Amino acid sequence: MNKEALEQCTDSPMFAPDSWGLTDQERDLTTVARELGQCKIAGRAGRYDRDAEFPMENYRDMHAAGLLGICIPHADGGQGAPLKAYALAAAEIGRYCGSTALTWNMHVSSCLWSGALSDDLDMDDEVRDRHHRNRAVHYRRILDDGAIYAQPFSEGGAAAAGAVAFGTTASRTDGGWRVNGQKIFASLAGSADFYGALCTELKQEDDRPSRRNTLYLAIPADADGVSVTGDWDPLGMRGTVSRTLLFEDVFVPEGSELMPAGVYYQAASQWPHMFLTLTPTYLGLAQAAYDFTVRYLRGEVPGAAPVKRRMYPTKQLAVAQMRVMLEQTKSIWFQVMSEARRNPSKEQLLRAYVAQYSVMENANELAQLAIRTCGGQAMLKNLPLERIYRDSRCGSLMLPWTAELCLDKLGRGALYESGETDDP
Ligand SMILES: Cc1cc2nc3c(=O)[nH]c(=O)nc-3n(C[C@H](O)[C@H](O)[C@H](O)COP(=O)(O)OP(=O)(O)OC[C@H]3O[C@@H](n4cnc5c(N)ncnc54)[C@H](O)[C@@H]3O)c2cc1C
Repeated sequence: MNKEALEQCTDSPMFAPDSWGLTDQERDLTTVARELGQCKIAGRAGRYDRDAEFPMENYRDMHAAGLLGICIPHADGGQGAPLKAYALAAAEIGRYCGSTALTWNMHVSSCLWSGALSDDLDMDDEVRDRHHRNRAVHYRRILDDGAIYAQPFSEGGAAAAGAVAFGTTASRTDGGWRVNGQKIFASLAGSADFYGALCTELKQEDDRPSRRNTLYLAIPADADGVSVTGDWDPLGMRGTVSRTLLFEDVFVPEGSELMPAGVYYQAASQWPHMFLTLTPTYLGLAQAAYDFTVRYLRGEVPGAAPVKRRMYPTKQLAVAQMRVMLEQTKSIWFQVMSEARRNPSKEQLLRAYVAQYSVMENANELAQLAIRTCGGQAMLKNLPLERIYRDSRCGSLMLPWTAELCLDKLGRGALYESGETDDP
C-alpha cells in the first residue's frame, strides 16, 4: 500500500499488542489485516452488499498481502498462523466487511484444519506422510495461483449440527471417489476454485452411514457434475453468495483429501475450538458498531452531517453500556482463543460455548444499540451501520454452534457430569 493511503488508516488495533500481550506474529498479521481492511476493503463493502456479489477484488488484494496463506504452515511457504493469530487478524477484517471476513474464514479453515490442527491429531507415520504430500498440493495452488477454497457442510438436516452422518456421500471408485449430494448455504458458491465438502464415505461393511467415516474432500469447482443452483437474496452477509451446491456423480481423484479418512471425526470430538473460527467476523462487526457510534456522536462519520451529539447524558450512558458489552465480549473471546487446545477441560469447553454465544448475540445487540443511540439518519444505506446490523444478525445461526445449541450444551454441561443420567 502506498504511503498516502496508509496515512488515512488511523484506526486503533482492536487488541493493542502491548495491552493484550500479542506475539510479534499476531501484531504483524493484525496490522496487515487492519490496514488492508480500512484502506481498501471498507470502501467496497457497500457495493458488494448491495449487489450481493462475491468480493473477488478483496481476495486478489488478500492474496497479494499473503493473507490467503495465513494458516498454511511455514514449511509449506505460508504464514504459519495458529488459530489465535488467524482469529485476531480475521476480527480486523470483519470490522470493515462482514462478508469478506466470513468467506475468508471458510477458505482459511481449509488450511487451518488440514494444517496446524491435523498436526496435533493422531495418525500413523504413513498416513501423515501422505497427508503432507496431499495438502502441499492444495497449499501451492493457494500461494501460487490465489486459489480459493470454500467450506460447504450444511445440508439442511441434522448433519451440520453433528447429530447424524452427512447425506452427501463418497463411494470408492478406480483412482478416487464418486460424490453425490447437495449442500445449502455454500458461501463462495460460484466463486471458489475448490469446495472443501464434508461427505460420508460409504463402506460395504457398514449397514448404515457413519459419522466416523466423514471424509473432507476438495472438489474442483469445474469438475463434471458440480453445479450451483438457486438465488441469493438474504437479509445480511449478502456478499458471501451462499447458494446451493449440487454434486451429481462427481469424480474426485485420490489425493483430494483435506484430512485423511477418519481425521475430521477425531478433530470434531477432540479439537472442539475448531468451530470458533466463525466468531472473529462477528467480533469485528461488534467493534465496528461501537466505533461507528463514537464517531457519529462526535460528528466525525464521513458522509454524515458533522453534527455533534455527544453532550447529551443519555448518549453518554448508551455509549458506556455499549463499551461494557464490547469489553466483556472481547475479553471472554480472547481468553477462549488463548486456551484453545486439543482435549480441552470441561471448564474450557463450556467457556468456549459462552464465548461463541456472547460474540454472536452481542454483535447484533451492539448494532441494535448503535442504531437506537445514533438515530434515524445513521441507518441510511449510504452509511455502514445498517449493513453491520443486518450482517451481525447472521452470527447466531451458524451451525454447529448456533446460539441455541450453545445454550443447550452449556445447560446440560453445567448440570451433568459425563455419563450421568436421571434414570433410576
Ligand atoms: C450468511 C451465511 C453463510 C453461511 N455459510 C455457510 C458455509 O459456507 N458453509 C456451511 O456449511 N454453512 C453455511 N451456513 C449455514 C449455517 O451454518 C447453517 O447451516 C444454516 O444457517 C442453518 O439453517 P437452517 O435453517 O437449515 O437450520 P436448521 O438446521 O433448520 O436449524 C434451525 C435452528 O435449530 C437449531 N438446531 C439445529 N439442529 C439442531 C439439533 N440437532 N438439536 C437442537 N437444535 C438444533 C439451531 O439452533 C438452528 O439455528 C451459512 C449461513 C449463513 C446465514
